[in-house]
Amino acid sequence: MVVKKYESKDGSIVIEVDQELCEGLSDCVDVCPASVYDLVDGKAVPARIDECIECCQCVDSCPKNAIKHSSC
Ligand code: SF4
Repeated sequence: MVVKKYESKDGSIVIEVDQELCEGLSDCVDVCPASVYDLVDGKAVPARIDECIECCQCVDSCPKNAIKHSSC
């Protein structure tokens, strides 16, 4: 299992994206109200993690369950 881990500057939020499960379907990109995600080389990247409002929609929307969020 290859998991990429991203952390907010203050350390309060950690998002993990499973690189094998993520198929770049963009549900998280589309659903996130804070526009946290980009698609980079076909994988979800929470490039603006510091903007996260901890709504958990990215986790809930992913059909592959590729996203883990420390608050969700
Ligand atoms: S928890 Fe909500 S605001 Fe944070 S990255 Fe996921 S969808 Fe965006």
